Order: sequence, then structure tokens, then C-alpha cells
Amino acid sequence: MLELEERIRQQGTVKPGNVLKVDAFLNHQCDVALFDAMGAAWAEHFQGKPITKILTIEASGIGIACVAARHFDNVPVVFAKKAQSINLDGEQYVTQVYSFTKQREFPVIVAKKFLSADDHVLIIDDFLANGKALQGLIELCEDAGATVEGIGIAIEKGFQGGGDRLREAGFDLDSLAIVESMDADNGTVTFRH
Ligand code: 5GP
Repeated sequence: MLELEERIRQQGTVKPGNVLKVDAFLNHQCDVALFDAMGAAWAEHFQGKPITKILTIEASGIGIACVAARHFDNVPVVFAKKAQSINLDGEQYVTQVYSFTKQREFPVIVAKKFLSADDHVLIIDDFLANGKALQGLIELCEDAGATVEGIGIAIEKGFQGGGDRLREAGFDLDSLAIVESMDADNGTVTFRH
């Protein structure tokens, strides 16, 4: 998606440790018009799939998923929680994932009442790096017996391999911008097409 690549070029910053900072439009300040265009792009890609629910993970995925849902007949958006809380009651699907940015394990939790074997799920997230976060969400869908119809990602860091592993495993993965390489010294980002 050229518009997203342009924004990454203009406003993204490359941090040491292979981290791309896009807080000006994606995961701190949110450009809702851009989110809307991203939702339209996924709707075109996943056209014809019987999606009943969008699944994402807190926090940055929530805004993107909610705007995208407007392009999928306003299906409910469920976001997996990363911590137990007194607001989480009833039975839950729980797994553990390792966070690339926080460099520690955390739980990924969805209440059983919000994910079932009847669901056809589109998973949406802001970033795909090693694929650990997505693996966790896929595992929750498997535990629920739900069908993963596809995965929509805003920015895939292709050089970290998570996306290629998911494609090889047969998932329909639509990443709107795939970063092939990036250089923290001169701030350049190269995309895969
Ligand atoms: P993965 O589990 O695929 O290794 O990493 C995906 C998660 O880590 C995303 O949900 C995102 O929150 C975070 N993440 C990974 N790489 C980056 C990055 O370069 N920049 C930002 N802002 N977040 C990232």
C-alpha cells in the first residue's frame, strides 16, 4: 500500500535493535483516515471470506481493528488482553507469548464467551516481526475451534521471517507494507514488493 509506505518514509524512524517507530500515525498518535484506507485495502483482499469477527491484541491493534471493522459489515472486534484483571471473569483461553519490543513473556487472554467454533476470524495487528504475537492469537483461535480466515498486518518486518513462516504454514496473510531492510545509521527503509 503506497500511502502507508510513504508515511513510513516521511514519519517513521529507525531505532537500534531493528525497531521501527511509527508513533506519529500508527501506534501513539493515530491517523484515522489512514486506518480507514488500510481497512478498505484488507476488505478488498479478503473479499468473499465469511468473516464473523476481527481479533486483535491490545493496545495498538485495537484502533486499527475497530476502523477496519467498518469495512467488514461492522463485525465485532475482540481484543486479546495482556494481563489478568478483575474485569476478566468467566472461562478464558490463555496462552503465553514473547514480546519483541518488551523482551519478556506475557499472557494473551480472551474470554471464552467471545470466541467460538462458529467464528470465522480475521486477525489484525499493527506489526509482524518474528510472529510470536500472531502465533498466540492463532493458538487462541485453535483452542476455540474457530477458523482463521486471514491475517491483516499494517507493517511486516520481512527480514525477521515471521511473515514467511505464516505464509508457508498456509495462512492468507496480507501485509500492507513489507519492510525488507532498514538502517538505523542513516534512517533508510527499503520495502519488498
Ligand atoms: P512479533 O511477535 O511478530 O515478533 O512482534 C509483533 C509485536 O511486537 C507487534 O504487536 C508490535 O506491538 C511489536 N513490534 C515488533 N516490532 C516492532 C517495531 O519495529 N516497531 C513497533 N512499534 N512495534 C513492534
